[in-house]
Amino acid sequence: MVDVHEPKVRSYNMSQIKSKNTRPEILVRRFLHKKGFRFRLHDNNLPGKPDLVLRKFKTVIFVNGCFWHMHENCKYFKLPKTRTSWWKEKLNKNKKRDLLWHKQLRNLGWNVLIVWECKIRKDPEATLESLTKAITNGRYSSSSFSGSSSASSGTANNSDKN
Ligand SMILES: [Zn+2]
Repeated sequence: MVDVHEPKVRSYNMSQIKSKNTRPEILVRRFLHKKGFRFRLHDNNLPGKPDLVLRKFKTVIFVNGCFWHMHENCKYFKLPKTRTSWWKEKLNKNKKRDLLWHKQLRNLGWNVLIVWECKIRKDPEATLESLTKAITNGRYSSSSFSGSSSASSGTANNSDKN
């Protein structure tokens, strides 16, 4: 493969291609580690191989790239102009798989948190702060971390009535 891209363009493309160890993911890891959280990475034994697993808090975290995980209404998600229908199908499959994994994890009693790439880019501090809250609260209280389409399965017993 001939290298025709400017370094900047190339590293952007790389970040779109690599799904593991992405910059947002590294940011999340560093931050949580500094805060004293301990976690495992990419645990093969769990559905979807979550990016971070915090057993103590029974919490898993996925750091999602907006493109690969079809973040709706997000400027980082745009269907490519070529092979559009192929991409659409592929990404839809990703998304379905994501939702299935999240559901399986919840059924196993895990608290599932999603951190979107764009939130980390836009406001890393606030995003990471509310992430730690969501971890220690033991459930996804903040809407920015709830899974993509709101899971409506089971008895949704929304709290905040006290
Ligand atoms: Zn996004």
